[in-house]
Amino acid sequence: MASLHPSLPLEPRPARRRAPAPAADPSLAEKALEIHHRLCPVYGCPIPYFHSLDPLSELVSSLLSHRTRNADSGRAFKALRARFPDWSEVIDAPTEEVEAAIAGVRWPEQKAPRIQASLAAIRERTGRLSLDFLKDMSVEAARAWLQEMPGIGPKTSAAVLSFSVLRMAALPVDSHHHRVAQRLGLIGPEVDVGPSHVVLRAQLPADWGAQELYDNHEILMLHGQKVCHHRKPACDRCVLAGICPSAFEVA
Ligand code: SF4
Repeated sequence: MASLHPSLPLEPRPARRRAPAPAADPSLAEKALEIHHRLCPVYGCPIPYFHSLDPLSELVSSLLSHRTRNADSGRAFKALRARFPDWSEVIDAPTEEVEAAIAGVRWPEQKAPRIQASLAAIRERTGRLSLDFLKDMSVEAARAWLQEMPGIGPKTSAAVLSFSVLRMAALPVDSHHHRVAQRLGLIGPEVDVGPSHVVLRAQLPADWGAQELYDNHEILMLHGQKVCHHRKPACDRCVLAGICPSAFEVA
């Protein structure tokens, strides 16, 4: 197994001592809820989960998906599974073989050693290759545990807990979700994707379960894909135009 490439663009690591979650601005919490209620009918909440993977497999899937189309990362995941039916085989394989199996994703030369390093770190820390034990932890503790691993930041830790069969109440934020939240004024222009996780989660009701948080992520992501495009957002057919400070302002 190759060592982790020193120039690998890892997700930013969290500070070891986590600050308490910020209290949400009440007006922004109200707005976040209004956005949720307007988008849910458009995209059909409750939204079916797209994966039923165990959490370790979900971790690999999530690492493959970074800046890659879902169809391409899904194909790469299947190819990796077909070539290495056991995750321990991925750790022990020459990195070039892992890279060849995931050639369809963006930056396979970086993702192959990253996947190997993450799997190796989990095996070293727990003595086995499984993340099933996370189900017995709180969401906060499980995310903190995951984020101690190389290359795992807030987005990947939330995805593992939310998208896998663990179905835990975590809120992932991808680039579409983040862009839409910024345009709507839920987060400021200086707030990056990593730090936005805690801010956006704090704006939603504390007692929301896994499905509601998953729905919130999915509807904002889908809205970014289908309406609030990176360029030329379709504000004229957006159900949020009346409460969006960026409406008709983005070229
Ligand atoms: S009004 Fe325009 S900028 Fe605002 S969320 Fe809708 S599409 Fe995006």
